[in-house]
Amino acid sequence: MAQHFLLSSKARTLSLRDIYKGGEDAAYQTFLKLRWPETEGEAVCPDCGCVDTYRITTRRRFKCAACGVQFSATSGTILHSRKLSFVDLLAAICLVANAAKGLSALQLARDLGINPKSAFVLAHKIREALARETVAEKLAGEVEVDGAYFGGHVRPENRKEDRKDRRLAENQTGKRRVVVALRARQGRTLTAVYRTEDESLPMIRERVADGSIILADEAASWDPLHGWYTAKRINHSIAFMDDGVCTNQAESFFSRLRRMVGGQHHKVSGRHLHAYASHAAWLEDHRRQDNGALTRRALGLALASPVSRVWTGKWQARAG
Ligand SMILES: [Zn+2]
Repeated sequence: MAQHFLLSSKARTLSLRDIYKGGEDAAYQTFLKLRWPETEGEAVCPDCGCVDTYRITTRRRFKCAACGVQFSATSGTILHSRKLSFVDLLAAICLVANAAKGLSALQLARDLGINPKSAFVLAHKIREALARETVAEKLAGEVEVDGAYFGGHVRPENRKEDRKDRRLAENQTGKRRVVVALRARQGRTLTAVYRTEDESLPMIRERVADGSIILADEAASWDPLHGWYTAKRINHSIAFMDDGVCTNQAESFFSRLRRMVGGQHHKVSGRHLHAYASHAAWLEDHRRQDNGALTRRALGLALASPVSRVWTGKWQARAG
Protein backbone atom coordinates (compact mmCIF):
# COMPACT_ATOMS: atom_id res chain seq x y z
CA MET A 1 0.00 0.00 0.00
CA ALA A 2 1.24 3.46 -0.83
CA GLN A 3 2.50 5.44 2.13
CA HIS A 4 0.12 8.06 3.45
CA PHE A 5 1.21 11.51 2.32
CA LEU A 6 1.39 12.93 5.83
CA LEU A 7 3.80 10.15 6.85
CA SER A 8 6.20 10.84 3.99
CA SER A 9 9.25 13.08 4.35
CA LYS A 10 7.82 15.25 1.54
CA ALA A 11 5.09 16.39 3.94
CA ARG A 12 7.60 17.71 6.45
CA THR A 13 9.59 20.68 5.25
CA LEU A 14 9.26 23.02 8.22
CA SER A 15 9.21 22.35 11.93
CA LEU A 16 8.98 24.48 15.07
CA ARG A 17 12.60 23.51 15.66
CA ASP A 18 13.59 25.07 12.29
CA ILE A 19 11.64 28.24 13.10
CA TYR A 20 13.18 28.74 16.55
CA LYS A 21 16.66 27.74 15.35
CA GLY A 22 16.41 30.42 12.65
CA GLY A 23 15.40 32.92 15.31
CA GLU A 24 13.83 36.35 15.17
CA ASP A 25 15.86 37.67 12.24
CA ALA A 26 15.19 34.74 9.91
CA ALA A 27 11.47 34.93 10.82
CA TYR A 28 11.52 38.69 10.10
CA GLN A 29 13.09 38.04 6.65
CA THR A 30 10.28 35.57 5.92
CA PHE A 31 7.72 38.24 6.83
CA LEU A 32 9.40 40.79 4.55
CA LYS A 33 9.50 38.38 1.59
CA LEU A 34 5.86 37.39 1.98
CA ARG A 35 4.62 40.93 2.68
CA TRP A 36 6.28 42.34 -0.44
CA PRO A 37 6.74 39.38 -2.81
CA GLU A 38 6.77 41.61 -5.91
CA THR A 39 9.89 43.47 -4.70
CA GLU A 40 11.43 40.35 -3.12
CA GLY A 41 11.01 41.75 0.35
CA GLU A 42 11.95 45.39 -0.27
CA ALA A 43 9.54 47.58 1.70
CA VAL A 44 6.77 49.39 -0.17
CA CYS A 45 4.96 52.29 1.51
CA PRO A 46 1.39 51.16 2.32
CA ASP A 47 0.13 54.76 2.01
CA CYS A 48 1.63 56.02 -1.26
CA GLY A 49 3.20 52.92 -2.86
CA CYS A 50 6.68 54.47 -2.86
CA VAL A 51 9.56 51.94 -2.82
CA ASP A 52 12.08 54.52 -1.56
CA THR A 53 12.20 53.97 2.20
CA TYR A 54 14.56 54.39 5.15
CA ARG A 55 15.07 51.49 7.50
CA ILE A 56 14.72 52.20 11.19
CA THR A 57 16.64 49.01 11.90
CA THR A 58 16.53 49.20 15.69
CA ARG A 59 12.74 48.94 15.64
CA ARG A 60 12.31 46.90 12.45
CA ARG A 61 10.27 49.70 10.96
CA PHE A 62 10.46 51.78 7.79
CA LYS A 63 9.96 55.43 6.95
CA CYS A 64 8.67 56.40 3.52
CA ALA A 65 11.01 58.84 1.72
CA ALA A 66 8.08 60.39 -0.18
CA CYS A 67 5.29 60.81 2.38
CA GLY A 68 7.16 60.29 5.65
CA VAL A 69 4.78 57.68 7.06
CA GLN A 70 6.30 55.05 9.35
CA PHE A 71 5.27 51.45 8.92
CA SER A 72 6.31 47.86 9.61
CA ALA A 73 6.05 44.50 7.84
CA THR A 74 2.60 43.99 9.39
CA SER A 75 1.17 47.55 9.15
CA GLY A 76 -2.24 47.61 7.49
CA THR A 77 -2.51 43.81 7.50
CA ILE A 78 -4.58 41.45 9.61
CA LEU A 79 -1.49 40.95 11.81
CA HIS A 80 -1.05 44.67 12.54
CA SER A 81 -0.39 45.91 16.08
CA ARG A 82 1.06 42.56 16.90
CA LYS A 83 2.55 42.12 20.34
CA LEU A 84 4.19 38.78 19.61
CA SER A 85 7.67 38.55 18.13
CA PHE A 86 7.99 37.58 14.46
CA VAL A 87 9.34 34.18 15.46
CA ASP A 88 6.36 33.46 17.74
CA LEU A 89 3.92 34.66 15.11
CA LEU A 90 5.53 32.44 12.48
CA ALA A 91 5.42 29.52 14.94
CA ALA A 92 1.71 30.18 15.59
CA ILE A 93 0.96 30.11 11.86
CA CYS A 94 3.03 26.93 11.46
CA LEU A 95 1.10 25.26 14.30
CA VAL A 96 -2.26 26.22 12.79
CA ALA A 97 -1.18 25.15 9.28
CA ASN A 98 0.21 21.85 10.62
CA ALA A 99 -2.96 20.86 12.47
CA ALA A 100 -4.88 18.80 9.92
CA LYS A 101 -7.98 18.78 12.13
CA GLY A 102 -7.62 22.34 13.37
CA LEU A 103 -6.26 23.56 16.67
CA SER A 104 -8.08 24.84 19.72
CA ALA A 105 -7.17 28.24 21.15
CA LEU A 106 -6.27 26.57 24.45
CA GLN A 107 -3.84 24.25 22.73
CA LEU A 108 -2.25 27.12 20.81
CA ALA A 109 -2.00 29.17 24.02
CA ARG A 110 -0.24 26.32 25.82
CA ASP A 111 2.13 25.65 22.92
CA LEU A 112 3.20 29.30 22.65
CA GLY A 113 2.90 30.32 26.29
CA ILE A 114 0.38 33.09 25.56
CA ASN A 115 -2.98 34.11 27.00
CA PRO A 116 -5.87 31.91 25.67
CA LYS A 117 -7.91 34.95 24.63
CA SER A 118 -4.98 36.22 22.57
CA ALA A 119 -4.59 32.78 21.01
CA PHE A 120 -8.34 32.72 20.22
CA VAL A 121 -8.18 36.09 18.42
CA LEU A 122 -4.95 35.25 16.61
CA ALA A 123 -6.31 31.90 15.37
CA HIS A 124 -9.48 33.63 14.15
CA LYS A 125 -7.44 36.27 12.32
CA ILE A 126 -5.50 33.48 10.61
CA ARG A 127 -8.79 31.77 9.67
CA GLU A 128 -10.15 35.04 8.29
CA ALA A 129 -7.04 35.34 6.11
CA LEU A 130 -7.31 31.74 4.88
CA ALA A 131 -10.96 32.30 3.92
CA ARG A 132 -9.97 35.22 1.69
CA GLU A 133 -8.23 32.81 -0.68
CA THR A 134 -11.56 31.73 -2.18
CA VAL A 135 -13.75 34.86 -1.83
CA ALA A 136 -13.74 35.49 -5.56
CA GLU A 137 -13.70 31.81 -6.55
CA LYS A 138 -16.37 30.52 -8.93
CA LEU A 139 -16.75 26.76 -9.33
CA ALA A 140 -17.23 24.93 -12.63
CA GLY A 141 -17.34 21.39 -14.02
CA GLU A 142 -18.71 18.72 -11.71
CA VAL A 143 -19.68 20.30 -8.39
CA GLU A 144 -20.86 18.35 -5.36
CA VAL A 145 -23.42 20.14 -3.19
CA ASP A 146 -24.23 18.95 0.31
CA GLY A 147 -25.33 20.23 3.70
CA ALA A 148 -24.63 19.03 7.24
CA TYR A 149 -26.14 20.24 10.52
CA PHE A 150 -24.11 21.38 13.52
CA GLY A 151 -24.94 22.59 17.01
CA GLY A 152 -28.18 23.11 18.87
CA HIS A 153 -27.86 19.77 20.59
CA VAL A 154 -30.62 19.07 23.10
CA ARG A 155 -29.53 16.54 25.68
CA PRO A 156 -32.18 13.83 26.04
CA GLU A 157 -33.73 13.49 29.49
CA ASN A 158 -32.46 10.61 31.56
CA ARG A 159 -35.83 8.91 31.99
CA LYS A 160 -37.64 7.81 28.86
CA GLU A 161 -41.01 9.17 30.05
CA ASP A 162 -39.47 12.65 30.40
CA ARG A 163 -38.00 12.70 26.90
CA LYS A 164 -39.38 15.06 24.26
CA ASP A 165 -39.56 14.62 20.53
CA ARG A 166 -36.37 16.50 19.56
CA ARG A 167 -37.46 16.62 15.91
CA LEU A 168 -40.20 19.14 16.77
CA ALA A 169 -39.29 22.81 16.39
CA GLU A 170 -40.62 23.73 19.87
CA ASN A 171 -38.22 21.23 21.45
CA GLN A 172 -35.13 22.55 19.65
CA THR A 173 -32.76 25.28 20.79
CA GLY A 174 -32.90 27.35 17.59
CA LYS A 175 -29.11 27.25 17.51
CA ARG A 176 -28.82 24.50 14.94
CA ARG A 177 -27.11 25.60 11.73
CA VAL A 178 -26.41 23.94 8.43
CA VAL A 179 -23.03 24.18 6.74
CA VAL A 180 -23.47 23.99 2.98
CA ALA A 181 -20.41 22.84 1.05
CA LEU A 182 -19.84 23.19 -2.68
CA ARG A 183 -16.93 21.10 -3.82
CA ALA A 184 -15.66 21.14 -7.40
CA ARG A 185 -14.19 17.76 -8.33
CA GLN A 186 -11.28 19.53 -10.01
CA GLY A 187 -11.15 22.56 -7.78
CA ARG A 188 -11.94 24.25 -4.52
CA THR A 189 -14.37 23.72 -1.66
CA LEU A 190 -16.62 26.67 -0.78
CA THR A 191 -18.68 26.79 2.40
CA ALA A 192 -21.34 28.95 4.03
CA VAL A 193 -23.64 28.67 7.06
CA TYR A 194 -27.45 28.96 7.10
CA ARG A 195 -30.47 28.04 9.18
CA THR A 196 -31.82 25.79 6.43
CA GLU A 197 -30.40 24.33 3.23
CA ASP A 198 -32.92 26.26 1.06
CA GLU A 199 -31.38 29.56 2.16
CA SER A 200 -28.15 28.59 0.37
CA LEU A 201 -29.70 28.51 -3.13
CA PRO A 202 -28.86 32.14 -4.10
CA MET A 203 -25.24 31.57 -3.01
CA ILE A 204 -25.03 28.40 -5.12
CA ARG A 205 -26.46 30.25 -8.14
CA GLU A 206 -23.86 32.97 -7.70
CA ARG A 207 -20.84 30.79 -7.06
CA VAL A 208 -21.35 27.90 -9.49
CA ALA A 209 -20.81 28.78 -13.15
CA ASP A 210 -23.46 28.19 -15.81
CA GLY A 211 -23.01 24.87 -17.60
CA SER A 212 -21.78 23.08 -14.48
CA ILE A 213 -23.00 19.67 -13.44
CA ILE A 214 -24.37 19.53 -9.90
CA LEU A 215 -24.16 16.32 -7.88
CA ALA A 216 -26.43 16.26 -4.85
CA ASP A 217 -28.42 13.94 -2.63
CA GLU A 218 -32.19 13.48 -2.70
CA ALA A 219 -33.02 16.29 -0.22
CA ALA A 220 -35.89 18.38 -1.61
CA SER A 221 -33.91 21.57 -0.86
CA TRP A 222 -31.79 20.90 -3.94
CA ASP A 223 -34.71 20.43 -6.38
CA PRO A 224 -34.56 24.06 -7.69
CA LEU A 225 -30.98 23.42 -8.86
CA HIS A 226 -32.44 21.46 -11.82
CA GLY A 227 -33.74 24.76 -13.17
CA TRP A 228 -30.25 26.28 -13.42
CA TYR A 229 -27.86 23.38 -13.97
CA THR A 230 -27.67 19.79 -15.10
CA ALA A 231 -28.28 18.19 -11.71
CA LYS A 232 -27.66 14.52 -10.92
CA ARG A 233 -29.05 13.11 -7.71
CA ILE A 234 -28.13 10.19 -5.49
CA ASN A 235 -30.60 8.68 -3.07
CA HIS A 236 -28.53 7.94 0.01
CA SER A 237 -31.17 5.67 1.48
CA ILE A 238 -30.49 3.32 -1.45
CA ALA A 239 -26.76 3.77 -2.23
CA PHE A 240 -23.86 6.17 -1.72
CA MET A 241 -22.73 5.98 -5.33
CA ASP A 242 -24.80 5.24 -8.39
CA ASP A 243 -23.31 5.42 -11.87
CA GLY A 244 -20.58 7.83 -10.72
CA VAL A 245 -23.08 10.11 -8.99
CA CYS A 246 -22.03 10.68 -5.38
CA THR A 247 -21.20 13.41 -2.91
CA ASN A 248 -18.22 11.58 -1.42
CA GLN A 249 -15.81 14.51 -1.70
CA ALA A 250 -18.23 16.83 0.08
CA GLU A 251 -18.67 14.08 2.69
CA SER A 252 -14.94 13.84 3.25
CA PHE A 253 -14.86 17.62 3.84
CA PHE A 254 -17.67 17.22 6.40
CA SER A 255 -15.85 14.43 8.17
CA ARG A 256 -12.82 16.72 8.58
CA LEU A 257 -15.07 19.51 9.87
CA ARG A 258 -16.77 17.13 12.33
CA ARG A 259 -13.41 15.96 13.65
CA MET A 260 -12.30 19.58 13.96
CA VAL A 261 -15.45 20.69 15.82
CA GLY A 262 -15.73 17.54 17.95
CA GLY A 263 -12.05 17.00 18.69
CA GLN A 264 -10.66 20.52 19.02
CA HIS A 265 -13.30 23.18 19.46
CA HIS A 266 -16.05 21.17 21.23
CA LYS A 267 -18.85 23.70 21.56
CA VAL A 268 -18.93 25.93 18.52
CA SER A 269 -21.28 28.89 18.45
CA GLY A 270 -23.24 29.53 15.25
CA ARG A 271 -21.37 32.84 15.03
CA HIS A 272 -17.98 31.15 14.48
CA LEU A 273 -19.10 28.04 12.60
CA HIS A 274 -18.44 29.66 9.21
CA ALA A 275 -14.81 30.30 10.22
CA TYR A 276 -14.22 26.67 11.18
CA ALA A 277 -15.97 25.49 7.99
CA SER A 278 -13.79 27.62 5.70
CA HIS A 279 -10.68 26.61 7.67
CA ALA A 280 -11.53 22.91 7.18
CA ALA A 281 -12.17 23.59 3.46
CA TRP A 282 -8.75 25.26 3.14
CA LEU A 283 -7.05 22.30 4.83
CA GLU A 284 -8.98 19.85 2.65
CA ASP A 285 -8.08 21.67 -0.57
CA HIS A 286 -4.37 21.88 0.30
CA ARG A 287 -4.04 18.49 2.00
CA ARG A 288 -1.34 17.36 -0.46
CA GLN A 289 0.94 20.33 0.21
CA ASP A 290 3.93 20.05 2.51
CA ASN A 291 3.73 21.96 5.79
CA GLY A 292 6.39 24.53 4.84
CA ALA A 293 4.35 25.46 1.77
CA LEU A 294 1.18 25.60 3.90
CA THR A 295 2.82 27.88 6.46
CA ARG A 296 4.14 30.25 3.79
CA ARG A 297 0.78 30.22 2.03
CA ALA A 298 -1.03 31.03 5.29
CA LEU A 299 1.42 33.79 6.22
CA GLY A 300 1.27 35.22 2.68
CA LEU A 301 -2.54 35.33 2.91
CA ALA A 302 -2.40 36.98 6.35
CA LEU A 303 -0.01 39.67 5.08
CA ALA A 304 -2.23 40.28 2.05
CA SER A 305 -5.37 40.59 4.20
CA PRO A 306 -6.48 43.98 5.50
CA VAL A 307 -6.95 44.76 9.19
CA SER A 308 -9.81 42.62 10.50
CA ARG A 309 -13.07 44.45 11.13
CA VAL A 310 -14.25 41.65 13.40
CA TRP A 311 -11.14 40.84 15.41
CA THR A 312 -9.26 44.11 15.77
CA GLY A 313 -9.01 45.45 19.28
CA LYS A 314 -10.16 42.23 20.91
CA TRP A 315 -7.68 41.04 23.49
CA GLN A 316 -4.40 41.93 21.82
CA ALA A 317 -1.89 39.09 21.75
CA ARG A 318 0.89 39.59 24.25
CA ALA A 319 3.92 37.43 24.74
CA GLY A 320 3.84 36.08 28.24
ZN1 LIG B 1 4.61 56.88 1.43
